[in-house]
Amino acid sequence: GCGICIKKCPFGALDIVTLPEELDNPTHRYGTNGFALYGLPSPVEGKVTGILGANGIGKSTAVKILCGQIVPNLGKPGDDANWEGILKQYTGTELYEYLQQVSKSLIKPSLKPQYIDYIPKVFQGTVSELLKSTDERGVLDYYISELCLESILDRPIGKVSGGELQRIAIAACLSRDADFYFLDEITPFLDIYQRMVAAKLIRELAETRPVVIVEHDLAILDMLADTVHVAYGKPSVFGIITRPKGVRIGINQYLEGFLPEENVRFRDYAVTFEKRFHKRDVVRPTLIEFPVMEKKYGDSFSLTISAGKIQAGEVLGLVGANGIGKSTFAKILAGVEKPDSGEMDKKIKIAYKPQYVKADSSVSVEFLLRQASRSFDSSYYQHEIIEPLSITPLLQSSVDQLSGGELQRVSIAICLSQDADLYILDEPSAHLDVEQRVKLARVLRRHAEGNEAGIIVIDHDIYLIDMISERMLVFDGTPGVTGSAYGPYDMKDGMNHFLKGLGITFRRDQSGRPRINKPESYLDREQRAKGEYYYAD
Ligand code: ADP
Ligand code: ADP
Ligand code: MG
Repeated sequence: GCGICIKKCPFGALDIVTLPEELDNPTHRYGTNGFALYGLPSPVEGKVTGILGANGIGKSTAVKILCGQIVPNLGKPGDDANWEGILKQYTGTELYEYLQQVSKSLIKPSLKPQYIDYIPKVFQGTVSELLKSTDERGVLDYYISELCLESILDRPIGKVSGGELQRIAIAACLSRDADFYFLDEITPFLDIYQRMVAAKLIRELAETRPVVIVEHDLAILDMLADTVHVAYGKPSVFGIITRPKGVRIGINQYLEGFLPEENVRFRDYAVTFEKRFHKRDVVRPTLIEFPVMEKKYGDSFSLTISAGKIQAGEVLGLVGANGIGKSTFAKILAGVEKPDSGEMDKKIKIAYKPQYVKADSSVSVEFLLRQASRSFDSSYYQHEIIEPLSITPLLQSSVDQLSGGELQRVSIAICLSQDADLYILDEPSAHLDVEQRVKLARVLRRHAEGNEAGIIVIDHDIYLIDMISERMLVFDGTPGVTGSAYGPYDMKDGMNHFLKGLGITFRRDQSGRPRINKPESYLDREQRAKGEYYYAD
């Protein structure tokens, strides 16, 4: 029951097929042979504008220009950049007036950066103190309640989880009184319910203010943005930002890897979705069976797990809200936590990638990987792990110098380097771009099959879960209070159980891509009545 099929093999060959090597007239270039950016996104009042593209393609650079932090040098790094020349180039475009304001320093931006872990390093107070200092619109109470931040208001910023910090950063950004809002990735560490709330709040703000976002969870981007600019090129070398496209069309063109208006193919394969659910026909051997189990933490949290089994060679998607017991379940499988009742039939070896990965050492990536894997030099390892996770350029880097997305890929590689029966990866999509998510799905499926191992992927990106999983485990209940685990289900029953609990249905567009229905729309009601939350019968 594979969700997404890849028309052509994406392994290795990710070079652009028919892309001009360099164009005339870059908007900005870092240094003589540095990265060059072509084009800019245009913030529009009343709209959420998305930028859709790989990491390193120039999105942050473009936004720094829109904020006035970088004066674009029109590709001539030696010259003194001057706004006169820039404005001349933009005469008659939708950006002209906006850039004129930037040139007069009249644009006050409010930014939510991609990586937020520096926040506790620069701010030592409590959550409430931080938020009060940003509340220029008098909207704080509303954001605190919508983003469920009440219970942590008195906590020091250094003591909150990544998911909490993400919601605090979003509230802080949105509560400023600014002329231009930019949010770089809103979904890392948020569950799907929190993602939908964040999307709703951004849409509300965008009714009166221009908002630009970068987002790699495409189901969320799709419901959040009105238009998207596709950003393509060669990461770290050059990036081209297209004119705005309608969000449905823009995402479809991006997945297709072909931009008809620009007449550019930037990827040699397309990512497509299966509309209908297929049961897979291979029978897999059982890796481990677990009985009904229970686990209580004091009086505060209790988890109930229904009996099930994990198979060798499969990838199991694990979905459910934050605080519902997913990590607790992983710890029980690993033997780190003992259930209060129920016991597994045997012990298995588990490799685990935690949700929050920290780099607290200055050794090189290569050193770490060689430590983790005995087969580092084998062609299997190079081919199946190093190449698809794009680790090669990182090998000599010190681990504590990696960006969040780079650290994520290295952590995934370290997890897969271990010799284990079951691999558990908690939110491997965090900070990965769409290309990297598609490749991750391939890497994990091949790793499971090739090693006859089980893989459990805990994630909140529905497209990734669809792409990656053969079966699903679903957790529901009340976060922080009770959790119940059901399954493993086949994909159809799993998606139905999960999405029914959330009250979300997906329709399919002409290309077969799933899109979240507007609540209470005709299709939403019709699909609920039929019990078709994700796959059509
Ligand atoms: P994105 O936001 O799409 O991930 P960025 O705009 O941050 O991309 O970066 C695009 C490219 O520009 C990267 O390859 C990066 O190495 C390079 N770059 C970013 N900032 C600078 C800088 N200050 N000096 C030189 N190169 C830079
Ligand atoms: P998830 O992985 O789904 O986000 P967890 O399994 O980490 O959820 O946690 C579920 C609940 O159990 C949370 O409310 C959490 O605070 C609580 N919890 C987790 N570990 C412990 C522990 N060691 N002691 C007490 N409570 C815990
Ligand atoms: Mg960036």
